[in-house]
Amino acid sequence: MKIFDVIIIGGGILGTTISYWISDLYDLKICVIEKESQVAMHASSRNTGVVHSPFYLNPDSKKILAKSALISYNMWENLAKESGIPWKKTGVFELALDEKQHESLKDYMKWGIKNGLLEEDLELLTGNEVSKKEPNVKCHSAIYCKKEVSTDFGAFTRLIRKESEKNGTQFLLGNKVNLVEEKKDHSIINLDDQSTISSKLVINCAGGNSLDIAKQFGLAKKYSDLHFRGEYWIADSKYNELVKTSIYTVAEFKGYPFLDPHWIKKADGQSEVGPNAVPIPSPDTYSGYMGDISTSISKLKEIVTGNAIKLLSDPEFLSLISKEWLSSISKTAMINRVQKFIPKIRPEYFSERGTAGIRTPLITPEGKFLPDVLELTTASSFHIINYNSPGATGAPAYSAFVVKKMQDQGILDFTKNPKRSIWNFEEVLNQA
Ligand SMILES: Cc1cc2nc3c(=O)[nH]c(=O)nc-3n(C[C@H](O)[C@H](O)[C@H](O)COP(=O)(O)OP(=O)(O)OC[C@H]3O[C@@H](n4cnc5c(N)ncnc54)[C@H](O)[C@@H]3O)c2cc1C
Repeated sequence: MKIFDVIIIGGGILGTTISYWISDLYDLKICVIEKESQVAMHASSRNTGVVHSPFYLNPDSKKILAKSALISYNMWENLAKESGIPWKKTGVFELALDEKQHESLKDYMKWGIKNGLLEEDLELLTGNEVSKKEPNVKCHSAIYCKKEVSTDFGAFTRLIRKESEKNGTQFLLGNKVNLVEEKKDHSIINLDDQSTISSKLVINCAGGNSLDIAKQFGLAKKYSDLHFRGEYWIADSKYNELVKTSIYTVAEFKGYPFLDPHWIKKADGQSEVGPNAVPIPSPDTYSGYMGDISTSISKLKEIVTGNAIKLLSDPEFLSLISKEWLSSISKTAMINRVQKFIPKIRPEYFSERGTAGIRTPLITPEGKFLPDVLELTTASSFHIINYNSPGATGAPAYSAFVVKKMQDQGILDFTKNPKRSIWNFEEVLNQA
């Protein structure tokens, strides 16, 4: 059996950045186990690719995500400059389509400042002012935030993997964690290839599977999760410049962790519409709606006997889900959702689907979506669950906070030997 000091489950942007910080601070035997053949094959590449400024995040209920996003902005920007990874300052208009949504924009202006943005970063505009800047956009009013950037989070993750490897981290790729047994002062992990590895500290960053893994440690039993596929359509090149700025709208249903489809200016120069949020049975169901029969049956059973059944009796949620489903089956239904604020847009401007990604929000025992990240620990493990948008934006700072928490809790208790760093650990913590 191979023995490591630290095992990280999941080579997404989160597991990879955590491996980077730990390997940068200590001389330890660290491994990242990733079931795919490369890092960032799931949400960390399959996302909208926007480095978000946290003006739309409630500073009370989404404190961790908001703070991480704010601090990480400069970290990504500097790394992009050094590495040549795209950093396209697109700016964003966050639209209100009526007076009620305008009230939300007024809250966003306050939240943005509370979350640490500067007054000059945010402008509240009337619909006419927006139309002068973007003639094809129609709205009641909008916030313009210039600090919104399009990038490639998959490329960032692959770069950080290399930096972590330089510090000695081993990436065990193409091997899945099947079973975990927690002993008194270490954990034993059984992998898909029948091998076994062990460690004094396991960090669970398994994205859409993180709740299942936490449950193997006897944690998070009161929670359940749901998987939602976000789909996109790519605008044909001649309609790319229909709108030059990224356009989001105030979410129609505020209690749910997804936004209505938006118009996105991508880092590669393309424009896309999406994502919707289509319920699916597993974090790997990238096409179709059912997945394999056994996965579908077990998810259905979990829904019927668990917290999610409360959501399914909520008429607002059912109405949202039926709309999401329709916009998956029908391109016209998807584009019509955007036509409300870009009246000129037509389904025939889109002939190719974009890359879909899957989000896995947690459901509380009350049948509500949990708004922020859930962190749970045992004596020899740390679990990060519900790490959703803007999780890619916030990953460098958030992973430093996680490392600091593990130090404070005494579960990351080794002699330090800091090395050359692409980012400065203490500087990140000082901004928190
Ligand atoms: C459609 C969509 C749009 C988004 N848009 C944005 C955006 O514009 N900006 C932004 O900041 N954020 C965005 N996000 C959120 C962001 O992408 C995620 O918060 C972030 O990528 C999560 O990273 P992660 O490492 O936790 O998860 P993941 O990237 O999912 O990584 C988890 C990894 O664990 C591996 N794994 C799982 N189970 C096992 C196992 N048993 N054994 C071994 N390996 C395992 C998986 O293969 C996977 O690689 C979006 C997400 C989606 C889905």
